[in-house]
Amino acid sequence: MRRLMPLIIAVLMLGAVFALPPAQQPAPQQQTQTKEQTVYATKTGKKYHRATCRYLSKSKIPMSLKDAKAQGLTACSVCKPPQ
Ligand SMILES: [Zn+2]
Repeated sequence: MRRLMPLIIAVLMLGAVFALPPAQQPAPQQQTQTKEQTVYATKTGKKYHRATCRYLSKSKIPMSLKDAKAQGLTACSVCKPPQ
């Protein structure tokens, strides 16, 4: 019976180890990449606008800010979209 004691203790310790909650996984890193800005152009205009601009009543073409600049469009002075 005495010989069993170390074994029982070992089993109990193992049980304690397995009863512990699993190590918490590190939280996935948040993407630091900034979201692409969407601006709106019109069919004929040479400006790009915010979604709420009144000049978008006739046509409203969504595009990224980068694309708008690539097309030579400039920021509307009324709605002041991001430059
Ligand atoms: Zn505008």
